[in-house]
Amino acid sequence: MIPYGRQSIDEADIASVVEVLHSEWLTQGPGIASFEEAMASYCHAKHAVAVCNATAALHIACLALGVGKGDLVWTSPNTFVASANCARYCDADVDFVDIDSETLNMSVKALIIKLEKAKQQGRLPKVVIPVHFSGLSCEMEAIFALSKQYGFRIIEDASHAVGAEYNGYPVGSCKYSDITVFSFHPVKIITTGEGGMALTNQTELADRMVRLRSHGIAQKPEHMVSQAQGAWEYQQIELGHNYRMTNLQAALGVSQLKKLPEFIAKRRAIAKRYHDLLAELPVVRPVTSNESSWHLYAVRFPAEKRKAIFDAFRKADIWVQVHYIPVHTQPYYANFGFAWGDFPEAEKYYNEAISLPLFFDLTIEEQDYIIDFIRNFLS
Ligand SMILES: *Cc1c(COP(=O)(O)O)cnc(C)c1O
Repeated sequence: MIPYGRQSIDEADIASVVEVLHSEWLTQGPGIASFEEAMASYCHAKHAVAVCNATAALHIACLALGVGKGDLVWTSPNTFVASANCARYCDADVDFVDIDSETLNMSVKALIIKLEKAKQQGRLPKVVIPVHFSGLSCEMEAIFALSKQYGFRIIEDASHAVGAEYNGYPVGSCKYSDITVFSFHPVKIITTGEGGMALTNQTELADRMVRLRSHGIAQKPEHMVSQAQGAWEYQQIELGHNYRMTNLQAALGVSQLKKLPEFIAKRRAIAKRYHDLLAELPVVRPVTSNESSWHLYAVRFPAEKRKAIFDAFRKADIWVQVHYIPVHTQPYYANFGFAWGDFPEAEKYYNEAISLPLFFDLTIEEQDYIIDFIRNFLS
């Protein structure tokens, strides 16, 4: 079976996790700070806050930006449900901005139109969450300029984009956002089993996210509301969560991060090869990019053939996947009045999409087998 995505774990990864098992700290140890510092440094960001998964990172990012009841959060419909759910955890209302038919990311044109309408109605979003679909960054410079014009904050959902670049800067630098979130789920670019991280250049946001990942308890004396009576004292300042990452995960993260440049180079080579080999076939290839991390290689097939080819792929033991069912069509979001037809570009894309296998250990032979399968099916 060839999956669409899979982790790559080597002996160095295993050794670093085993080392933690022999150590004193299974969680809340110095390994967390090592992973955070390494990632912040890689991304040229000031702060990094490690948590148990990207969903938790999105949640504390929303909380740190003050998202609450009645606030409005906008994201892309072409994403995993977590990009929208984080706002619902805060009791905020969710709305979507349709995608660009080429990049498959939030359309800046659609965003401008929606913002202008929202301004007239006095219902502007508090936070916009652009999602870097497949590892290709959204047009952050334009979205950042709009955030200044209309007064919203930005969380980048960069779950797909660990190791990607934008305008020559690493995604995660937060040059055009308040907070950037990464996922380390095994299908993503690097893994910690489960895991996530929130990066920011704003010390206040970082301190707040550190507090929120551990019950809302102040870590530093200067963050306490009154002077501590003794060394035993901790003060819960607000309602937080237990979203901590373990040291086992952090050690795996540090080890994986060392291989990130190699992982990205390989993913780009695989994507380039798909691009070249699919050139003569009647499919729509994703836009080319030298800066994408290529989490996904999503091909568009004729909509009327999509189901048949998907089933045939799976029969051929090629475990392709579809990314994504537009979030607004999920039964949960239909409860809020969303329906098919609301975001036509995301829906059109969904009806044609299949993500081909793309992971570090994918072989040339496997890739040829996949291409041959597509050629035979379509001829
Ligand atoms: C994977 C993913 C998430 C959630 O990541 P977890 O670490 O599994 O919580 C959020 N957003 C997007 C776009 C993702 O692909």
